[in-house]
Order: sequence, then C-alpha cells, then structure tokens
Amino acid sequence: MFRVIRVACFLVLCACLAGGPAVGTPAAADSAHALYDALNALHVDSRVVYTVRDLDLRRDAIHLTFTQGQLAFFEPFQGKITGAVFSGRGHILMIPRDPTEKASVARFLGAPILDQTFTMIYMRFDDDSAAVLQSRIKEADFPSGPDPSIAEEWDAAVAALNPGHSLRLLSDLLADREIPYFYAGILSETSGPFDALVDDRLEEQVLVGQPKTVNDQPIYDVWASFRRANDANVSAPFIAEGYAIDTTISPELNTAGNATITLRATRGGERAIPLALSGDLRVGSVTDIAGQPLEFFQGEPAAHHEISEQGDQSLTVIMSRPPQAGEKFQLHLTYKGSVIRDAGNGVYYAGEHASWYPRVGGTDSFASFDLKFRWPRKLVLVATGRKLDESEDGEWREASWKSEKPIFAAGFNLGDYRTVSIESAGIKVDLFASPQLELAVQQHTGRHVITTPFPSTDLQGNVKPVFVGSATETDPAPNPAAILHRLGDEIAQAAQYFSRFGGPFPYERLQVSQVPGTTGQGWPGLLYLPEFSFLSSETQRRLGLNTARQEQFAEIVPYHELAHQWWGNQVAWHSYRDQWISEGISNYIALLFADTRRDSNHALKTWLGHYRDTLVSKIPGKPDAVEDSVDSIGPLALGYRLHSSLDPAGYGQIVYPKGTWVFHMLRMMLRDPQAKDPDERFVRMLRSLIDSHRGGVLITDDLELAVRKVMLPSMDLEGGHSMAWFFDQWVRGTGIPHYHVEFNVQRSGEQFVVKGVLHQEGVPSEFLARVPIYAAAAGGKTIPLGHVTTSGNQTSFRFVTSVDPKRLLIDPELTLLCTAN
Ligand SMILES: [Zn+2]
Repeated sequence: MFRVIRVACFLVLCACLAGGPAVGTPAAADSAHALYDALNALHVDSRVVYTVRDLDLRRDAIHLTFTQGQLAFFEPFQGKITGAVFSGRGHILMIPRDPTEKASVARFLGAPILDQTFTMIYMRFDDDSAAVLQSRIKEADFPSGPDPSIAEEWDAAVAALNPGHSLRLLSDLLADREIPYFYAGILSETSGPFDALVDDRLEEQVLVGQPKTVNDQPIYDVWASFRRANDANVSAPFIAEGYAIDTTISPELNTAGNATITLRATRGGERAIPLALSGDLRVGSVTDIAGQPLEFFQGEPAAHHEISEQGDQSLTVIMSRPPQAGEKFQLHLTYKGSVIRDAGNGVYYAGEHASWYPRVGGTDSFASFDLKFRWPRKLVLVATGRKLDESEDGEWREASWKSEKPIFAAGFNLGDYRTVSIESAGIKVDLFASPQLELAVQQHTGRHVITTPFPSTDLQGNVKPVFVGSATETDPAPNPAAILHRLGDEIAQAAQYFSRFGGPFPYERLQVSQVPGTTGQGWPGLLYLPEFSFLSSETQRRLGLNTARQEQFAEIVPYHELAHQWWGNQVAWHSYRDQWISEGISNYIALLFADTRRDSNHALKTWLGHYRDTLVSKIPGKPDAVEDSVDSIGPLALGYRLHSSLDPAGYGQIVYPKGTWVFHMLRMMLRDPQAKDPDERFVRMLRSLIDSHRGGVLITDDLELAVRKVMLPSMDLEGGHSMAWFFDQWVRGTGIPHYHVEFNVQRSGEQFVVKGVLHQEGVPSEFLARVPIYAAAAGGKTIPLGHVTTSGNQTSFRFVTSVDPKRLLIDPELTLLCTAN
C-alpha cells in the first residue's frame, strides 16, 4: 500500500528505545533532570492507608468507584500529591458521547460502553483528584492507619510505571500554570491492564485504550478518544516557523546533523518543548541562541499511548526560562546516527522519512526550510525545495536547498541515481532512478538481476553486470531512457490535469525519485515512487505482478503521490480524523487521470468495483466463524486507529477503498450531465477548498461545508439543506447497503407502469440513499427509470416508461457504494 506518513499526526503506539536515555547537562539539584529523577522515585506513603467503601471519582466521562479496598496516596512532592494506588474491588464506567466512539468501544469490548470491575489501579495526576478524594475520605470518615504491606505490594510496579508520567508532570511543574492531567492504569479482571486518561494537553482529552502485541509488533488499541465535556481547547505551546538543517552523510551512510529551529511561543509560561526525532539519531547538544546549553530528554520512557509507531521519537528540550506569549526564539541542536538504509545494489533511502530532523511535535503548521547537505561525491541527493547551489570538494559533494514557500515537512533521498530532466505540459520534471532493482526484488526474480534505467557502477566506479538471465531467457533489453522519459511525460500531463482541481502545480519543478519496496510518498516538490512504478509492464509481469498490481503501480501510485502535491502538501490535514480526505481525493483524481489516458471509464470502473468487493468481503485471516466484512473494521474518521490489534492492516483496507468511493459518490451526486462541463460543481467545490485553506489544514467539517455550498436539491435527503446524513453514514459510520427489488409491470396504453418495492439490507433502517433504478428491456437495452430515496428497509416505488422492463437493474453505472442482486 502506498501512503504518506506524517508522524505528527500519530498520537499513539509502541516500543521503547533500546539503550538508555540520553542526558543533557549534569543534573544540578534544581535542574529539570533532578526534578524528573525525584518524580520517578516517588513511593506510596504507607504510613496512612485508607480502608474505603463506595468511594467515587469522576474525571469527565470516566467514572471510577472504589467499591471496597485499600487506598494510599503517593508521598507529597513539593507539597503536592501526584498519585495514588488502590487494591481491592472497584468498578469503571465510561460512556462515550458520540456514536463513532461507541461503535469503536463495541468493536473492542463487545458493548458500546466500558463497564468493568478492577482489582488494582495506579493513578497519576496534577488536577484536583487528590483534593477530591481526600475530601470524600474525610466526609465518610474511612478508617486509616499505617500498612507497610501496601508499599510492598506496589513498590516494584510504581517504580516501573512512574517514568511513563514524569515528563508530563514535569512539563506542568516547569510551567507558569498547570494544564490538568489525570491518568489511571487499571487492572481489569476481564480485559487485563488498560489505560484511562484525561489530559488537557491533548486535543481529544479523554482516551481509553490498551497496549497489545501482534506478531511481536506493539500496537496500541484506542478503544475511545474524544473531547471532554468542558473542552479546555489548549493549543500547542510552540510553533516552528523555520528550520535550518545542515546534514553530513558519511561514506558509511551515517548522518551528523546540526539544526537551528526558529520557534514562536503560542502561549507564554511553558518551558518544556516537545519535539520528535528518530530514535536512530542521538542528540549531542542543545543550546539557545546565546550558546547556553539547555537540558533535554531523549528516549525517556513515555506512557504507552504517547510512543510513536516507528519507535520512540520523543525529545523534550527544557528552556532556561519560560518564553512569553508570541515570543520568538531559536534552538540549536546537534545529533548523529544512522537513518539511511542500504537496500542493496546501490539503492539507498532515508529510512526515517518524517523524523530525520528534530521536528516540533503537536503542531500542524507550515514552516520554511533551509537544507544543506554534504555527501559522498558518487551519489546523487535530492531534497525538497529549490536547489541554490551544488559543488564538489574532493570526495565530497555539497548543495543547499530552500523551500519556495512554507511547507509541512522536508524530505530528502539519495542513491546511485541516473537523472533525466524533461519539460512537458509547462512543468519541469527531474527523474532519479537507480540502475538496478533493490536486492529484495532481485531475489524475488530468482537469479536474475533486472536492470532499471541505466547500466550501473558501484560506489568505486566499477561497472556491474546489468542483466544476468538464464540462457533460455529472451527478454528484450530494456530501454531505460525511454521508460523514464515516458514516465516523466505522463507525470507532467497528470500535473496539468490535476491543476483543474487544485490550481497550478505549486512548485518550480517536480523531482521524482525511486525508493525500495512498494510504498510511495509525496513530499512538497519531491515524489518517492516505488521501483515497480519505474518498470515496464513486461518487466512487471515477469516479476510476478498480476494485472491489478501492475495497474496499481503503473496507473495509480505515481499519480496518487503526485496528487498529494496539492492534497496533503498545499493543504494538509488537521488530525488523524481528517487524513482520509487527502488519501481519498488523491486516489480518486489519479483514477480520473488514468481514464484520460486509455479507454475512458476503464480504470475508474475497474477500481471502484475492486474496492467495493474488498469492502464487502470477509476480513482476511479471521476464523471462519467471523462473518464481519472489511467495511466493519471501522469508519474513515478513525484514521490510524483502524490499525489495531484486531485488524493490523485495517488502515489501508479502509482508507483507500472507501475514501475513493466517498469522493466518487460526491462527484456523481454533484454531476449535471446536461451541462457543458458536467463536473463543474465538483471541481468548484474542490477548488474552493484548496483556495480557502492553502498553507493550512483541512478538517472533515470543511469538506462537508464546501459540499453543502454547491449541493443540488436532489442531495438534500434529510431536509434542512444538510449533508450530515452523507458524512454520518459514509465517513463517521460504517455499513454498505445491499439492495434487491420486487416489481410488477402493467401496460397502460402505450406506456408501462412499473410498481415495486426496493429492499435495503445490511445497514440500519434509517440509512438514507438515493438509488438509481434502470430497466433492462428486450434486446439488451438499458433505460434509466429514476431514483428511489430509501425510507426504511422497504421503499415502494412507481415508474412509468415506454419500454417493457424484463429486469430492473440497481445502479449499473456504479454511482453508489452498494451491492445488489
Ligand atoms: Zn497517499
């Protein structure tokens, strides 16, 4: 599957870093590290242990009852209590407020609410939890006394769990004011250990979930995540305005980097700056603009829900004083390590696309980038931005790039590339391809070394064999330059076609580089395309790709990634709930482009059918007894949360197929076949979205509003000039309707009266759809009769037509995501 990874959008998931945490400056008694160590070392205060009954604690939607047992607080830290433990019998109740979250909880737990008993609970907080508990304990006059056994029971667990919360508590300790935090680690009798969180620093403050492992890979299952009732709406404390990044790549492909980040404090009073950096890069120093060393924390254990999927990328820098709101300042960081992977045969790639430089976490802002690289002379390096200069220095090459306009993220790629530059359709395209396929593909083909575009030299300049086939092979010699020219030309044509939906191609030139594997990415002005996309269809076939996979690599991937130049790079997405917009529209317009190149309607219809079949099929790899369809994995609005221990492949199985269908249905509903340009409304809607959000982010509500502005009366299925029905059903909900008809025909003069009932199944009875019905007459003629707007499980209809219908067909033109017989 192809995808764009945006680490900043991923809240959740997994593994702790190997090796110990890095330490900034030595810990002075009042340093952040000293505070951090003291928070880690906190114990349960066993001198006062309460025996409690029916003690309640409500934290927004989370309702805890300590039914009967022992409760003890942590020893105070700087006069404040930051934790408590409980052993005994307790109960948690959590009712999500919206239907999407209820459905998510039901999928993990079998019921739409979290309602479980527990035996142990570990709590950390800096909200008013301690005060609330203490006042209720006092009111009820629960007995208390020393009990060393509770310390014995809890000491090891507390020591292991504390570090996951110390950085979060430290951020508040160092700030002018606290942003309330409450965490409960709960040991449930039915579900095992899980987390319940109310953290006002998160956009969705309430979260319940559980760390899991699938095939030795950690996955964090988010059961529910939503905003608290009194939404505090705390913005990210810092925004990056500019990055200057200087990177040296050694012949062994190790990297050493220097980054200067210009930041702005959005609200004053915060000292801890959250950043993200690949765990494969170790920070050496962090200084402020005056050269004063700053404390930092890298790779410290974090709470499960905070650790990114690609390993621990957390990096926190502590300012020596809190900046004021609006204040601009700079950080300077040095780091080194290894983020470049060698795929074999002279194919290299930056394995940590999104985190090869320290990024400011928790924001979705655009920034300017000045990039400078120094790398071995034999290799070619491509990077985002306009190249300012390039020079050779002995065995080294140096060049710098500057972003043409603020961009969301910067990337680079390098390899033993050959280059072709073309200009077509008014767009300059540079293509960078390696002479040989990566080792994995080569092994896949047995003993063959298949060449892609050019004969190869290794890093020392020796010519390597370009094609090794068995004596019986009679493959035509590839004509690499021709393949690259054709690909570049097609990409330029596509860029011109896409400008219809999103305005002119946004950058001076487009660079297209090859990466190993089967996934592509679209960075501002820089595409990473999988090598399969660089191969002729003949070579693809010989590599064992079936027709669908050939079409995917040839017809979709390059253009999908190109479409991200607009959808993803000109306008980014706000949160994981909105990422489907970029993927869906990019995939959809890639298919529209494919249909302009060969038989019109071929690629789109083929892929819509394929996607529909995927969505209604049984989830692969599930026991036979499980009848769930792929669509039931979850709605588009869950984004990366579709990737869970229940369905590790769920993200790709939903977001591309269903996202494509959602945009197709919108286009079909907005279409006016009589107009000079039948797609005028659809195009106008997309253009207005880009124009009003350029250099910013989209949320799903923005799309809903844009559709509402151009909607036709026929789309107003629930009245009130609203598209909520559509987005509730197709984006925030699951379910694909199945239709069948019963009908009879009566002759009336020259006309035929068709009366019948449309049955709708597989979705709730309130599911709304406008279903096109066609008549199949004798002689194979197909005539549209009209639409039936569903109302419940059965909707009766009546049409009058001039042909005698032998059969009725439901949506033969594929305008609605449904099945029928
Ligand atoms: Zn994509």
